[in-house]
Amino acid sequence: MSRAGLDRLTPLATPTLILAANLPDIDTITLLFGQRSYFHHHRGITHSLVGLLVLAILLSLTVHFYDRRVRLKNNSHAKPTRPSRLFVVSLLGLLSHLLLDYTNNYGVRPWLPFDGSWYTADIVFIADPWLWLILGGALFVLTANNFKAVAFWSLLATALSLLLFYSRVASSIPRAAQVAWFIGLALVLLIRISGAGRPGSKPAIISLILTVLYWLSLTVSHGVALERARASFAARLPGEPVVSISAFAMPANPFNWRCIVETPTTIHMWNESVLKGATGPAASSLYYKPQDRRLLQQIEATATGKVFLNFARHTQVEIKRDDSGYSVHMRDLRFNLTTHFLLDNNLNVIAEGFGSAPERSSFRASVDE
Ligand SMILES: [Zn+2]
Repeated sequence: MSRAGLDRLTPLATPTLILAANLPDIDTITLLFGQRSYFHHHRGITHSLVGLLVLAILLSLTVHFYDRRVRLKNNSHAKPTRPSRLFVVSLLGLLSHLLLDYTNNYGVRPWLPFDGSWYTADIVFIADPWLWLILGGALFVLTANNFKAVAFWSLLATALSLLLFYSRVASSIPRAAQVAWFIGLALVLLIRISGAGRPGSKPAIISLILTVLYWLSLTVSHGVALERARASFAARLPGEPVVSISAFAMPANPFNWRCIVETPTTIHMWNESVLKGATGPAASSLYYKPQDRRLLQQIEATATGKVFLNFARHTQVEIKRDDSGYSVHMRDLRFNLTTHFLLDNNLNVIAEGFGSAPERSSFRASVDE
């Protein structure tokens, strides 16, 4: 964004943008107070429009203060910064963070503190290699100024890719995506060596345009996946009422989507490819929703339950029963995020928390449904 023209607006635009683009994730600090606190606050107020305004004011004043106290003291001929322009640059950096977070299936809550509703476009996986290629590629073309830098970044990118593709994660990355990735890396290197677009802002502007085009094509692919999911579910279970339907992006493959359909009593989950059509009912997972209202109300009233259920989109609930009471696991099907609750026979919650519960040896492994 800086190289696309914002660096002409004010001195210190680049460091201000880098700080602004990362500042909202300062809420990660809540992890120090445990997972419940983290899931309650992460992507909360620091990712809301009100929060962004406050952060933009704080950041622009801090950078302006630093400019007057340090930079201009050391170089009295330097052009001074202006708080209003620093504010604009800060706000754009912060908004780019909100936009990126909005595109993946974690979502954001932009109207806090007035309204805690989540918003998400569900079009990008939590880590997307194609965005790294588009944006990182432009950065490489613009900043790798000599042979040493070009060689270093090329070797590093190749080594990290090979390491990733030969690790356990590789099984979830399609072979075609791995090949496409290396073709992309080679293309970026070719653009750099040929010197196309250097110097100037062209690579930066092109990469920003490519990012928007990539998002638009993902929006189309996502829309097709949702339609496919609706149609294949209706074909499988005609007349079954649908409560909610989602299609979540999968690693490195913009054509594959994890589809989840909820009915009043069940959750169905399967993978759908917009290229090949439905994978068929054989590959579908089925979860039953528990109908024990009193037990669920007890869990919903706990601190863990409140935070988790505010965050979760599609919740799988597993209840185990034994002589001393109930063991309940709730899982958000988007991220495999789990919470556990132990209840006695009178449905009093005696233990709760994020993560899996330690197995009680007395539990019979019987799913109470
Ligand atoms: Zn964030």
